Amino acid sequence: MSASQVDVVVLGAGMVGVSAALHLQAAGRSVAIVDRHPTPAGETSYGNSGVIEGSVIEPHYFPRDLRKLWRYARNATSEANYHLSALASVAPWLFAYWRAGAGEAAARSARGLLPLIRAAIPEHDALIAQADAEHLVRRGGWVKLYRSEPGWAKAKADAERARAAGMRIDALDAAGLAALEPALRGALAGAMHMRDAVSVQDPGDLAAAYGRLFLARGGRHLVGDARSLAEIGQGWTVSTGAGTLAARDVVVALGPWSDDVFRALGYRLPLGVKRGYHLHYAAEGNATLARPVYDADGGFVLAPMSRGVRLTTGAEFARRDAPPTPVQIDKTSAVARQIFPLGAPVEPTPWLGRRPCLPDMLPVIGRGWRHRGLWFDFGHQHLGLTLGPASGRLLAELVTHAEPFIDPAPYRAERFA
Ligand SMILES: Cc1cc2nc3c(=O)[nH]c(=O)nc-3n(C[C@H](O)[C@H](O)[C@H](O)COP(=O)(O)OP(=O)(O)OC[C@H]3O[C@@H](n4cnc5c(N)ncnc54)[C@H](O)[C@@H]3O)c2cc1C
Repeated sequence: MSASQVDVVVLGAGMVGVSAALHLQAAGRSVAIVDRHPTPAGETSYGNSGVIEGSVIEPHYFPRDLRKLWRYARNATSEANYHLSALASVAPWLFAYWRAGAGEAAARSARGLLPLIRAAIPEHDALIAQADAEHLVRRGGWVKLYRSEPGWAKAKADAERARAAGMRIDALDAAGLAALEPALRGALAGAMHMRDAVSVQDPGDLAAAYGRLFLARGGRHLVGDARSLAEIGQGWTVSTGAGTLAARDVVVALGPWSDDVFRALGYRLPLGVKRGYHLHYAAEGNATLARPVYDADGGFVLAPMSRGVRLTTGAEFARRDAPPTPVQIDKTSAVARQIFPLGAPVEPTPWLGRRPCLPDMLPVIGRGWRHRGLWFDFGHQHLGLTLGPASGRLLAELVTHAEPFIDPAPYRAERFA
């Protein structure tokens, strides 16, 4: 494969782009990845909570609880934060998000999410085996904690519906929780063990392992700016450090930066971001966690990672590129210490990431309808680690005109046209 011509160029080397590249390669295409970083997972796919979900039946809808909304409006919670200065620019997206979170629209999102979720772990497992990466994953599910009685009542109802869909979720009493996670402490209304989930000790390492598999199979990873994409004749070109790269097909898998490319091509897709932070901590004494733990009322996750216990925050609504304001780290670390003996941070500054989100909380997977050979694979919201490989398989099947393994209709970009 020469540096100058491939069948497909994938823009973006996050979990979504690397997974799509592997599937396109498996379908017989010569593929190059172009990213501004020289290795995979330089952005969002590095910093998440490391949960490959198996037990969700609906996406993160806009909350409808009025008391919660009032607290959000006053920036009085640890789970959400917003920049007042960004409100005018973010408001139209928030309104679309709110509208998509109820009634038939919400049911449509849930129906769209389920086939991808069902495929998520099997598709990861196939890549984990091929990349020889089993040592990077844990098979113990994850735990969700509920402090309030209303939160616990809702969790039980949600678990009932998820079990009806075949998912394995156990309600835990205090002894059951202590058996799984002896270092957890504090008064709780209840806890759920989401047994189907797989977790990783470093999401960046998993993406890197997939990236090595791609290279070992003849793929190329080139450094370049995706915004140099140009339509030339029957295909596309992009400028890279190794010269101009030409391809018949191009996949936009730039996560929260995808609009930098699709807008220039005339697409108006409502891609927004929910920002989020992480910081690694030491644990006091010999306390450990065996799996990620989500505090539903605090809106944070504590995940055991190779660099320490990773505290990840909920959503921050702000301009994508505004300077970091990690107030949620300060608020949640105090709450997190109520349930786990967090020690000192092991790094000076929190990491900032951006969840790429469409208002209906489904990704865009499919063609750019105004151009020949233009493909989209972005907008994986809170679930991009989980959904990367399943999305990549579907995308590759569409690009190569193979029979899609699931109905691609819910993910078409045209739903926003
Ligand atoms: C705090 C937090 C916790 C999360 N927890 C989980 C979780 O537990 N489980 C889960 O499934 N998901 C989780 N997510 C969501 C998940 O991390 C994202 O959905 C996923 O990483 C998105 O992957 P991506 O490949 O689309 O984007 P990215 O990983 O951001 O990749 C986009 C790539 O595009 C490149 N790029 C951008 N612009 C250009 C340009 N102009 N030129 C060249 N390259 C460019 C970037 O360098 C980057 O490599 C979490 C997210 C956050 C923020």
